[in-house]
Amino acid sequence: MDLLEYQGKQLFAKHGLDVSDGSAVTTVDDAVAAANKIGYPVVVKAQVLMGGRGKAGGVKLASDEDEAREHATNILGLDIKGHITRTLWIEHASDIATEYYASVLLDRSAKKPLVMFSTEGGVEIETVAEETPEKLIKQNVDPLVGLTKEQALDIATQGKADEDVIEGVADALVALYEVWIEEDASLAEINPLIVTPDRKVKALDAKVSLDGNAAFRHPDHAELGDKANLDPIEVKAAEQDVVYVKLDGNIGILGNGAGLVMSTLDVVAQAGGEPANFLDAGGGSDAAKVKQAVEIILSNDNVKAVLFNIFGGITRCDEVANGLVAAFADLKPTVPFVVRLDGTNDVAGREILEKAALPNVQTAKTMNEAAEKVVAAAKGNS
Ligand code: GDP
Ligand code: MN
Repeated sequence: MDLLEYQGKQLFAKHGLDVSDGSAVTTVDDAVAAANKIGYPVVVKAQVLMGGRGKAGGVKLASDEDEAREHATNILGLDIKGHITRTLWIEHASDIATEYYASVLLDRSAKKPLVMFSTEGGVEIETVAEETPEKLIKQNVDPLVGLTKEQALDIATQGKADEDVIEGVADALVALYEVWIEEDASLAEINPLIVTPDRKVKALDAKVSLDGNAAFRHPDHAELGDKANLDPIEVKAAEQDVVYVKLDGNIGILGNGAGLVMSTLDVVAQAGGEPANFLDAGGGSDAAKVKQAVEIILSNDNVKAVLFNIFGGITRCDEVANGLVAAFADLKPTVPFVVRLDGTNDVAGREILEKAALPNVQTAKTMNEAAEKVVAAAKGNS
């Protein structure tokens, strides 16, 4: 789950990073009231899950009430690469001497956390990595030891942070690492990490992604995320504990188990089709769960055909077939379905489907056959 800047900054503050106090608001009047209270100059910042807000006109300094009103009016509703701004963050503007970059993420190939630091902050880090890779310091951290002050000092020194702020940068890195570990983040990034004219080190921006698999450890995280811009179908799926990811195509995909769903996407793409979603009903899916999953897939209007690919292990194919029959009775889908049932109780499952004689449902024995049939069905229906 990706956090908005101000939510990331709240987690930063909790772990001792220096950030500016501010207010999150959703109306122009509240923005002006917050700015008056904070004191000028303020910075008015679009809260969207998209980088490059500054370049897109979503970050503006205001030196008085009129400017605060003008910027709030322009930024609320602003479309930043497809993300509509519904929330503003108002904070007291900082004076900037230098902009640095810092992040902590998981290095999958090393199977260790990775700390990155650069004095080239405020620009896209991919550009730094490409054009001046020597200016991007990367060090793995031993997860059993954590990021020690010594290692953080070494990173800041190697990265050529200004002499007088090496200590401050090291403290910021240690705090950022603590955010990453204790909040179960997959990414914690500060760009820019600024040095103020009075030589304080401070986070001016925050990009934090939390690992959803650890959500149970953090009841306080439930409030976070970009709630105003969620896809309603994804919200419904999450409530029902179904893994659903919307994609751009027109073939609805339903399977049990992430591996099976992923290979189903590949096989459909190979057959010339474009998946509309990734839906994993999970292991041990029963009839009720199958019905919910069908309902979720059909609530996407782009879906022109559905591929139902079940490999029975713990999941019993007869249960799944009963769920499908119940779903059809209730939802009366008009789009064609292709069903492949294989594994535990598959013969019984296919018998149930045959007996029910559901309209617009074809069966397939193999995944390839199923993919070809569903691609043809989607073409016929669009
Ligand atoms: P991003 O464009 O989405 O990465 O948004 P940032 O929060 O990083 O802001 C973009 C740029 O605006 C920063 O790199 C700064 O140069 C500038 N900026 C943001 N906040 C302030 C501030 O408080 N004072 C000053 N002087 N500049 C700021
Ligand atoms: Mn930034």
